Amino acid sequence: MTHTIELLHHLWQQASHVIAPMRLLLALTIVSSMSGSIVVQARWETPETRRAPRRVSTPSPTPTAVVLPDEAQVPILMYHYVSELPPDADSYRVDLTVKPEDFRAQLQYLAAAGFDTITLDDLYLHLTKGHPLPNKPVILTFDDGYRDAYEVVYPMLVEYGFTATFFILATPAHFESPQYLTWAQMKEMADAGMAIQSHGRDHVDLRGRSYEYLVYQTVGVKEAIEYHTGQPARFFCYPSGRYDDDLIAVLKSAGYLGAVTTEWGTTASRAGLFELPRLRIRGNTSLAAFASMLKH
Ligand SMILES: [Zn+2]
Repeated sequence: MTHTIELLHHLWQQASHVIAPMRLLLALTIVSSMSGSIVVQARWETPETRRAPRRVSTPSPTPTAVVLPDEAQVPILMYHYVSELPPDADSYRVDLTVKPEDFRAQLQYLAAAGFDTITLDDLYLHLTKGHPLPNKPVILTFDDGYRDAYEVVYPMLVEYGFTATFFILATPAHFESPQYLTWAQMKEMADAGMAIQSHGRDHVDLRGRSYEYLVYQTVGVKEAIEYHTGQPARFFCYPSGRYDDDLIAVLKSAGYLGAVTTEWGTTASRAGLFELPRLRIRGNTSLAAFASMLKH
């Protein structure tokens, strides 16, 4: 029995690296019968089976014959900091920082204009299974997992009944850097309906890297998010928007379903799930400019 469990453990270690978009569920349930034989029950994890309830407008019943859309117009907004500027802010920090009052005005605009926030899971299910989207979907994304995501962004999102996606890095979370989200904060946010997704282990250019290095930078962070939040992590944000075919291949083999870039655009396509474009919200983006971006 002990030997068999060790064998199963070994098989699971192998299975965790299996090249498959649908990943074998973490638990292999062992049912021991009276004769001492062992039955292993496995089931496939799919977005439907593990999907947290999200705020999506009344979906219609699933039709029997689904015609899949090749693409969808879904603005994915890209934020970094939402905070007051530190006194020593350089030009990069100024560009990457949206002030809290400006962010609030943007949320107010989205609510008043009838936008519904969705997640990347919702977009994936729309493009691959034909699940309906709200009339005016928008995806809010926050890169790098800065502490203000918990202190400023998260409370405002709750206030407006919105969800958002946070792309976090494993290393600063592991070392509990005061500038970044902790695992406990991420867990609280995930429990409240926020999506915690992967931005890599560290914030490095992943182009032209070896297979082993790409695995090192992309697999552990995914598993850490899932371990700490109890929610699946299936989407990746390319550090500094840089990627190549080798990286996409490793992401697919690790069970990721898509990735966002820093390319400008609002067209998400089924063929381009690993090259989803976004709209960058800058520190000096006016509310008028924000509104006109969302009109396509
Ligand atoms: Zn980043």
